[in-house]
Amino acid sequence: MARFVFITGGVVSSLGKGLASAALGALLQARGYTVRLRKLDPYLNVDPGTMSPFEHGEVFVTDDGAETDLDLGHYERFTGVAARKTDSISSGRIYSNVLEKERRGDYLGKTIQVIPHVTNEIKDFLRIGADEVDFMLCEIGGTVGDIEGLPFFEAIRQFSHERPHGECILMHLTLLPYLAASGELKTKPTQHSVKELQSIGLAPDILVCRSEQPIPEREREKIALFCNVRKEHVVAAYDLKSIYEAPLAYHREGLDQAVLDAFGIAPAPKPNLDRWLDVMDRLENAEGEVRVAIVGKYTQLEDAYKSIAEALTHGGMANRVKVRAEWIDAEIFEREDPAPWLEGFHAILVPGGFGERGTEGKIHAAEFARTRKIPYLGICLGMQMAVIEAARNLAGLPTAGSEEFDHEAGKKRFEPVVYHLKEWVKGNQTEERKLGDDKGGTMRLGAYTAQLAKGSKVADVYGATTIEERHRHRYEVDIKYRVKLEEQGLRFSGMSPDGRLPEIVEVSDHPWFIGVQFHPELKSKPFEPHPLFADFVRAAKDVSRLV
Ligand code: GLN
Repeated sequence: MARFVFITGGVVSSLGKGLASAALGALLQARGYTVRLRKLDPYLNVDPGTMSPFEHGEVFVTDDGAETDLDLGHYERFTGVAARKTDSISSGRIYSNVLEKERRGDYLGKTIQVIPHVTNEIKDFLRIGADEVDFMLCEIGGTVGDIEGLPFFEAIRQFSHERPHGECILMHLTLLPYLAASGELKTKPTQHSVKELQSIGLAPDILVCRSEQPIPEREREKIALFCNVRKEHVVAAYDLKSIYEAPLAYHREGLDQAVLDAFGIAPAPKPNLDRWLDVMDRLENAEGEVRVAIVGKYTQLEDAYKSIAEALTHGGMANRVKVRAEWIDAEIFEREDPAPWLEGFHAILVPGGFGERGTEGKIHAAEFARTRKIPYLGICLGMQMAVIEAARNLAGLPTAGSEEFDHEAGKKRFEPVVYHLKEWVKGNQTEERKLGDDKGGTMRLGAYTAQLAKGSKVADVYGATTIEERHRHRYEVDIKYRVKLEEQGLRFSGMSPDGRLPEIVEVSDHPWFIGVQFHPELKSKPFEPHPLFADFVRAAKDVSRLV
């Protein structure tokens, strides 16, 4: 069974627990171990799929079709290990499982309680797949002391107690605030947060202390003494220029050494950090900059498009350029000519989205990119908008639109070139959905295969004709319009294996215009940039060299 590292946070939220967990995963891999990362979230939503991207950031989708927290995206980007459905759980899901069992009579009429029923459910979750890896890193969302978090903390206490000695450790993140007036780093909030842990039977083995200032030896000693951890296990976490610095920075501060030490692994295998040295070299030694406009809806919160922002950075690393992504609210183009806004950008990206608001603006952005021959990448809704644009402006269908918007408005206004899909094939099974189904999980979700046309641009970009990418959508481009659109130069260059569902479209007479029904950004990694993003940025770089 794997060794477990539980990662918790105290003092304040947003300390970077997810990043610390991901970086630790990468460092353990660098020492030759296999890892899996998991997120346990105390909120009561059953899954993050229906949470607003404004509030919660992007929904990350796994190959096996789970809609999860964006932290799983970080885990994948740092370790390259594909996350699974069983790598994320919320209190809502745990309670829902327990209540379902109760309704089914599984508990034989016993009184159902947080201890043991809820905590057992959490422990069962922790054990899933634990035989497959050397280290299982489990991050607990929220902050110690939150009411919602208590069942999780209690479950990891029991779990650690039940496992053989030395198989579980606790790594706790805290903040050392700096008081400018006295010129001091304050350790008291850290002490309090460790007390809070101790009061529920937990003791940290490692303390990761976020700090804006170097932590003096004296403060380290004090923290070690008052918090009952070894001095070498007090690890500093300073602010970073880029998240991708985290593995090297944590290594410098001794995090991986401290973790192996806490497990009693000696001598520790030597790390090979070449992957991360190369990543940093590409980031720090970029030659030139390209500007990419992202025309979307959720532009106020960058986390809403986290994976896209990261995938663009990776595309830049592949080409040794810096990508400056600028977010533009699509609704502006419903009132104003996009030209003055978009001229000067080297490429345009229209991301995924839901609902009608802003879509006419996205259609204008696609038209601008197509007619001005600016590189265009349309993702999911961004592909659908590109198809609607071509249908309206090239194929003589002025009322082309998506059924999604008619459903939302409750009236029929559009010719549905994008329609609601009610059944489709996954592997050798047929999946079915009705519009009235529960809001959660009614989409085509997870990895699906696409066949790419030989000689197409995308086949060239991927260097393959069979690919697998992750989906999250309800609507599809209708192949009824394929012939009409292809006659006008919008090629359907990627299709589902049964030939029913368009997966990729591209404009033939254009330097780089590609729309994809899936989310390539979810599979991009800094050390393995996604081919579509790498080539999109390359095309943008070509444009930037022309002007
Ligand atoms: N709203 C569109 C659909 O459901 C696109 C979804 C997306 O962009 N992820 O098909």
